[in-house]
Amino acid sequence: MQTQTNMTDTPQALCKTLQLNPKTVQSLKVDLNSPFPLKVPKDFLAQIQLNDPTDPLLKQVLPLKIEHQTADGFSQDPVSDLAFNPTPSLIHKYHGRVLLIASPKCDIHCRYCFRRHFPYSEQTNTRHWKKALDYIAQNPSIHEVILSGGDPMSLSEKSLIQLIEKIEAIPHIKTLRIHSRTPIVAPSKAPTQALIAWAKQTRLHKVLVVHCNHANELSPQTAKLFSLYKEAGFHLLNQSVLLKGINDQVSILENLSHALFSQGVLPYYLNQLDRVQGAAHFEVDRHTALNLHNQLRKCLSGYLLPNLVQDTSNPFYKVPIT
Ligand code: SF4
Repeated sequence: MQTQTNMTDTPQALCKTLQLNPKTVQSLKVDLNSPFPLKVPKDFLAQIQLNDPTDPLLKQVLPLKIEHQTADGFSQDPVSDLAFNPTPSLIHKYHGRVLLIASPKCDIHCRYCFRRHFPYSEQTNTRHWKKALDYIAQNPSIHEVILSGGDPMSLSEKSLIQLIEKIEAIPHIKTLRIHSRTPIVAPSKAPTQALIAWAKQTRLHKVLVVHCNHANELSPQTAKLFSLYKEAGFHLLNQSVLLKGINDQVSILENLSHALFSQGVLPYYLNQLDRVQGAAHFEVDRHTALNLHNQLRKCLSGYLLPNLVQDTSNPFYKVPIT
């Protein structure tokens, strides 16, 4: 895995790098001291337009003071992760699959992140992996393990492979799914050699679910990476979050589906925002979301239409919005 340094450690440095006018920055009410600090990898930064405060990628990463406003119906654990947490690092909410929080870190900090208040320090540590793996090994009804985070691809490639091989050694596990935003936001850093070598010889089915919200996040680098993963046998899917002022237009979502497909990735979910405190200003109301999705249905082939869903405390599945 190659290393990648952040080009911007502070909102001031980011705004300067992006040549944003200081008056514009003031009017945006940027939060210079957010407890959920700014983090932008250089590949993602390169996709942001200069001198454009409305850039849809910039809006996903720039901390704003509005995040401090509390909103009714928004909470610190909007999808009830901690109600389905039989052992640290593990979330067992749905039949047949478990989610393993493999890393507390991400290569980017998305301002709308549903786990921005997650107690990673209590939950995520390699010492918890053994207990989590024992739980999985003792439950033959579990056939799929989902690596999540944080972002599992923020682990070193060596640690990622060590974890994956332990999962592979559990006979009743049939599928490994990796949920990651790293291939989109930091493709030059995403694991390749060891992961691909492992994928080519494993008995497991392999699914990679990436997280891309706007076609501007895709690049020749992401296309190259996806073709490597695809060649190694990964099924490639995408999930997006519907975000006000970022991708809440039919033309943007239509373009996103086509752009993903042109890189070998199928649109899978369009998630209604998880109602986490600090992100209320990103929410698209349910009526508007449904209307957008109905219009999108008229523009796209069925296989390019993502499912519009909301993750809730429902213990069976993500709830389709109808
Ligand atoms: S990559 Fe995922 S987990 Fe990480 S900050 Fe973004 S939304 Fe949250």
